Amino acid sequence: MTLGPSEAYRKLLKAYGPRGWWPVTVKPSKGPVYRPGHQGRLTERQRVEVCVGAILTQNTNWKNVESALRTLHGAGARDLRGILKTPSRRLEALVRPSGYFRQKAKKLKIFARHALSRGRSIGKWLDAPLDSLREELLSLWGVGPETADSILLYAGGRPVFVVDAYAVRIGRRAGWFRRHDYDHVQRFFTRKLPKDAAVYAEFHALLVELAKRHCRATPSCPGCPLKEGCRHGRAERN
Ligand code: SF4
Repeated sequence: MTLGPSEAYRKLLKAYGPRGWWPVTVKPSKGPVYRPGHQGRLTERQRVEVCVGAILTQNTNWKNVESALRTLHGAGARDLRGILKTPSRRLEALVRPSGYFRQKAKKLKIFARHALSRGRSIGKWLDAPLDSLREELLSLWGVGPETADSILLYAGGRPVFVVDAYAVRIGRRAGWFRRHDYDHVQRFFTRKLPKDAAVYAEFHALLVELAKRHCRATPSCPGCPLKEGCRHGRAERN
């Protein structure tokens, strides 16, 4: 029998434990750290860091984002004003480790300018009514659904499931859905999971872990925690 997302969530959590995603800086000398099981609220700076990371992680891996965050922080661009004050060329150089650095520097400027125009507290802004806030984020140049939803979930603590290529890949192989456009996949997960930001955040991170360990571009099903309940995994002869 094919496992549903709730069962898959429980199995992955048991197999891998809490992932502590999204990593944020606690001590500037250490850079972003994972905090499994952490339940406290983020500081304003940490919320900004998540938003910046959500933009920088587009089309690159997290290691490169960490490098860019460290250089940004080292240069004093840790908050929205710091980003806006940094000259564009300098900002491009600082985010260069994350790739597409000209575009990303421009996206950061646009985001920072807009967030500051919404008031002094990014936390309060991210508490605005969800539908209109999501539309607002999506209206910003360089913010697509995955970035907007990462900001809403991980910086704002809002119950919005983030769909990424890994969730689509695993869901298709598991037999959860055939269509894989963003909205369809997001509605699927939202329907099948309890409406809980902590569950969405953890499950997203667990799916990333599964994609790294087993459900790669070419899947390695033996030993996968979902194998017995996965359509593709059961069809494998090993
Ligand atoms: S059993 Fe194979 S295809 Fe299914 S989730 Fe695991 S690695 Fe992916």
